[in-house]
Amino acid sequence: MGGMSVPFGLQPTVKIVQAGDPVLRSSTPEWDDSLERTELEALVELMRSTMHAAPGVGLAAPQIGLSLRLAVLEDLWPIDQETAAAKEREPLEFMAAIDPRYEAVGARTATHFEGCLSVRGYTASVERPADILASWTDLEGVRHERELHGWQARIFQHETDHLNGMLYLDKAEPRSLCTEENFARLWSYEEPETVREGLGF
Ligand code: ZN
Repeated sequence: MGGMSVPFGLQPTVKIVQAGDPVLRSSTPEWDDSLERTELEALVELMRSTMHAAPGVGLAAPQIGLSLRLAVLEDLWPIDQETAAAKEREPLEFMAAIDPRYEAVGARTATHFEGCLSVRGYTASVERPADILASWTDLEGVRHERELHGWQARIFQHETDHLNGMLYLDKAEPRSLCTEENFARLWSYEEPETVREGLGF
């Protein structure tokens, strides 16, 4: 997922694959533990620095051209209180998630504009479950289960969807599609109803 612009130090990064590349549209195979631990750690570090530099709050392996059930997530960027409240956003500590999965908990949903590092320059409104039960395996091989809410739940869903060949656009309201530039200029401070009315969705 895309994030806010904060400069970052010089760390190795790799190119982020853009929409239209079939690697983003293929389901990743089952995780098979074929990576050596040191290789896996190096890959996670590379994904983390690539995510930071982008900048973003999540990056899935297919986004760097690897069909692996692996994603990194971290959302510690500074954010104003009003935006945090509107997005139900709590900081998310760094997480390397092997084989992440989720299911909705309850029927509550949230609708927000979302972006993707593989769909550069655009943003669109996506309705998603607001509360999920997330599960993933860590680098030690331990399986975790945790309820996530709000923006944390959104990031987790977005990254997990990447491993199933999906982009956020598949779930977005088509008429809400904006360039990031137009969104910042016209809609970022408007009430959701105003945006809906203005764009007709
Ligand atoms: Zn994405």
